[in-house]
Amino acid sequence: MRDELLIGPDDSGRVVAIAQGRVVDAVGPDAERLEAGGAQITPGHVNAHTHLYSGLAPLGMPGPEPAPTCFVEILERVWWKLDRALDADSLRASARLYVANALLSGTTTIIDHHESPALIEGSLDVLAGAYGELGARGLLGYGATERNGGREEALAGLEECARFARTGATETVLAAVALHASFTVSDETIADAGALCSELGVVMHVHVAEDQADVIDAVERGYDGPLERLARLGALPQGSILAHGIHLSPEQVSWAAEQGCWWVHNPRSNEGNEVGYAAALGATTRVALGTDGWPAEMEVEAEALERLGSAAGDDPQRRGKRLDAGHRLVAELFGTSENVLQPGAVGDLVVADERGPRHVVVAGQVVVRDRQLVLGDLEKIRREAEREARAVWERMSAL
Ligand SMILES: [Zn+2]
Repeated sequence: MRDELLIGPDDSGRVVAIAQGRVVDAVGPDAERLEAGGAQITPGHVNAHTHLYSGLAPLGMPGPEPAPTCFVEILERVWWKLDRALDADSLRASARLYVANALLSGTTTIIDHHESPALIEGSLDVLAGAYGELGARGLLGYGATERNGGREEALAGLEECARFARTGATETVLAAVALHASFTVSDETIADAGALCSELGVVMHVHVAEDQADVIDAVERGYDGPLERLARLGALPQGSILAHGIHLSPEQVSWAAEQGCWWVHNPRSNEGNEVGYAAALGATTRVALGTDGWPAEMEVEAEALERLGSAAGDDPQRRGKRLDAGHRLVAELFGTSENVLQPGAVGDLVVADERGPRHVVVAGQVVVRDRQLVLGDLEKIRREAEREARAVWERMSAL
């Protein structure tokens, strides 16, 4: 018998079964068959923190002038210009290119943190459209902030999270409430965000202590730090996703993990922004891996973690588990089994050989077959992205 992966609903109508060289009873005659000779069947990768709005950046985004000299200047001169230049068409093109390349790289879950100040209402629907169209799993939230338009802007961001949670979220694309970071919002906005999490029953997704500037800001406001500020204002419900955690102590990191929060390590981004290595994250196993806007190639990110972690003297056992910890995060978020190779699990699988992912399945649906997207045309997606990217660079230069 040839090795193959069989995909089909089991008796409970749920997902998936796998057969490598054996027949699986639960799968009926209508099961889809994917050739798996000489390949490995593994769970799909999880990108636990990223930004789809930066999906056009690899298409020749011009460098900032003058060159930034610190983290906040990188935000001001690059990402906070890019996000203001986005409209619905460019956001859609950016999201589709990002999601398409993620799936082709074997990344089946993408946890996004979104901001597009010129297009707040409806922006999460644009992103969800790309997930739905191409077949990815994910979590979406609008990162509320006061940095452009004060409280009014923050309330519009929170309202977008609520609107999407109530009317846009699906079984495979869930909603979060998000804040950009403690240092760009007032106490009122943090408290509102926390109350909204409780009301909607969803998690918080926020940048924490990515740079010392975030810590200094919270201290100046009278708190011990950004983590303590979020906690005191009731904005850290169980399951919350905290990106970075660089300028914290091991005690702070493990305290948040004990509250049920997840940390996300983004090694390539941290290196690029020169914000330091997140050494304190070694204090807990509730740490997943994210790319923070870099392409969702999780094996490349894991290699960067190896390189940077080894240089920083980080515990190799702990850091080596971060890529797979994403599956635990997904199981908690979606209320599914952690072992995706069992029937009844989320059904996110990759058939991969030495050339990379051959087939990719999300929630029992084949989304990549023979290294090609099943539900989209990569060439068309890329052409559209290149066209939109040129328009975005032009708008950015005028900001
Ligand atoms: Zn980020």
